[in-house]
Amino acid sequence: MQVPGPFEYERATTVDHAIGLLERLGSTARLVAGGHSLLPMMKLRLANFDYLIDINDLHAELGHIVIENDQVRIGAMTRHRELLESDELARVFPIFRDAERVIADPVVRNRGTLGGSLCQADPSEDLSAVCTTLNASCVIRGSAGTRTVSMEDFHRGPYETAVGDGEMLLEVRFPIKPNGSSAYEKVERRAGDWAVTSAGAAVWLNDDGTVADARVGLAAVGPNTTGIPAISAAMAGLPPSEELYDRAAAIARDACEPATDQRGSADYKRHLAGELTRRTLRRAVQRIGG
Ligand SMILES: Cc1cc2nc3c(=O)[nH]c(=O)nc-3n(C[C@H](O)[C@H](O)[C@H](O)COP(=O)(O)OP(=O)(O)OC[C@H]3O[C@@H](n4cnc5c(N)ncnc54)[C@H](O)[C@@H]3O)c2cc1C
Repeated sequence: MQVPGPFEYERATTVDHAIGLLERLGSTARLVAGGHSLLPMMKLRLANFDYLIDINDLHAELGHIVIENDQVRIGAMTRHRELLESDELARVFPIFRDAERVIADPVVRNRGTLGGSLCQADPSEDLSAVCTTLNASCVIRGSAGTRTVSMEDFHRGPYETAVGDGEMLLEVRFPIKPNGSSAYEKVERRAGDWAVTSAGAAVWLNDDGTVADARVGLAAVGPNTTGIPAISAAMAGLPPSEELYDRAAAIARDACEPATDQRGSADYKRHLAGELTRRTLRRAVQRIGG
């Protein structure tokens, strides 16, 4: 069935208006941002809601990319296309442009948002892996106030987040640390498809060239896009080398929990998790200072 069930529709005019509507309408209501995940689910009757609260008019309030000295702040309504096209963002975090180049197609990228991607909490979502890689934190607001949640705590499981009833995601914040860079790679069956497996990596170096910190985020190889702390621990304090990338690749292969499906076998995805970890770590290091 490609037609959603009947629902009421209202356009929120401010963040407070949206939160007020969410509180009043409760669990029968959902926010709609780009609609590229929610509406297909409603059309297939995998999700049914009595009310949709459209937050597209909040783009002026929540559609920002702000680069500060020590952090980047990106509003929840920032669209894939804006993340792809921002030269300033690509300069600080090239991983965003790498990832956005391989997310869906222009139609989806023109409408889909950072907030919708994170709140959908699909384990294959590329931006969730990017945010995990960059150790992002999520700013959530409800009528009781605003709170900040780390990416580790934001995703509670597939399709489940820390955003509670009557709350919405406002902004995602990314710490900037010196002498670092990042990269993203994805294997997909055809252009614009969801990942068979993808990996993001970010590396920061000390003045003596050893690794100060290294983070890896994987997508589509487990129930959640959590980071892999064992990779950070294994690389810290050592100079980057092919042997070190091999070690990180082995950790990534062991840490993931892929399932066999129409996109590939669990073994193939596990192999990809290792190979993409190796490649993105190597590329992130090559980009430092470049
Ligand atoms: C054909 C196609 C191909 C795609 N390919 C890829 C791909 O390769 N990689 C990839 O990562 N993604 C892919 N996507 C998904 C795409 O990136 C979506 O845009 C994204 O998943 C959801 O963003 P949205 O703004 O459309 O969210 P919506 O569909 O509007 O919302 C998704 C969920 O998030 C909630 N929500 C939205 N904003 C907020 C907020 N601010 N606070 C709280 N809750 C909120 C909604 O209530 C809903 O539950 C694809 C989608 C399509 C249709």
